[in-house]
Amino acid sequence: MFVVMSRNATEAEVLGVKSHILAEGMTPFDHQGAERVVIAVVGEVGPRKAQLQDRLAALPGVETVTPISRPFKLTSREFKAEDTVIQVGEAVVGDGSLTVMAGPCSVESREQLFETADGVRAAGATILRGGAFKPRTSPYSFQGLGVEALRYLAEARERTGLPVITEVMEPNQVDIVAEYADILQIGTRNMQNYSLLQAVGRVARPVMLKRGYGATIEEWLMAAEYIVSSGNPNVILCERGIRTFETYSRNTMDLTAVPILHHLTHLPVIVDPSHATGKRWLVKPLAIGGVAVGADGVMVEVHPDPESALSDAEQQLTIPQFAEMMPALVAVHEHVRAFRGDPGQLESAPADYGASGRSEA
Ligand code: PEP
Ligand code: MN
Repeated sequence: MFVVMSRNATEAEVLGVKSHILAEGMTPFDHQGAERVVIAVVGEVGPRKAQLQDRLAALPGVETVTPISRPFKLTSREFKAEDTVIQVGEAVVGDGSLTVMAGPCSVESREQLFETADGVRAAGATILRGGAFKPRTSPYSFQGLGVEALRYLAEARERTGLPVITEVMEPNQVDIVAEYADILQIGTRNMQNYSLLQAVGRVARPVMLKRGYGATIEEWLMAAEYIVSSGNPNVILCERGIRTFETYSRNTMDLTAVPILHHLTHLPVIVDPSHATGKRWLVKPLAIGGVAVGADGVMVEVHPDPESALSDAEQQLTIPQFAEMMPALVAVHEHVRAFRGDPGQLESAPADYGASGRSEA
């Protein structure tokens, strides 16, 4: 449930409500909105829900207490109407600008990374990607250079000024990856690895959470909720394709998810047409499609010589292909940003997306 404070509630009244929530064994998360403070009551409320609601409603400074029909709370627009804007180095994600994360699937060598970093930077990328620890379907495939790759990524950041993003696969890798990287990526295979989600929720680095390839939007937001409720509000969602009956493309890129997410959550949304399609020639049209439906940015794999890549050879763009795609993305983004709906238009949009019928606290 959310406790909505009155417009002129004092700090002492906000504190009073928060200590009451703590005394009830629940956790309060407060957000100062444009006009008033909203406090989310998080935890297992059980059968005392109605009484708790009445007790909180009677406290000084409280305007209303509203039950929430959705299981995600801190990630919801009801809790925080304004878009979450994440600053990483010089890059800003979610402020209406176009974020472009680009770089190789795997960091293979210093030279390969530097050549790609220089190329994507010159073409307008804002964040450098590169896999250090690789989640491979086969245990016999290249598993990544690990810490050596993290060092190259840090050197590439020095060289280009671009912040870097790389995947973390296990809770015990979080500290080392956070030492080198600016953004931690959670891959599709780990979207519901709850101990990993909690571990990245405890570090001071933004997290990009990729959609599980078999996950519903609600499950995805619940995974984001794990990170935010563990203390890290800076989460970026990344649609990277889901598995359907279609086999022609590697996955099916769910573009519908982008406006649905903008409706349901304040978190920024990125699309990854490389993993979604698995085919080089499909990357540009789907990147354009993602930007056209309002994504805050794209993540694209780029390699100096994709044919020789140690992973995802078929989907990586060459540097010239990436450079050729960029003006199209910028043009579509310029055109679309004027049309992107006001995320605050909750009243006018149907409220039953993802209705699971599950009850909540
Ligand atoms: C990646 O981006 O390097 C990756 C492995 O992607 P996904 O988790 O979406 O497969
Ligand atoms: Mn890849």
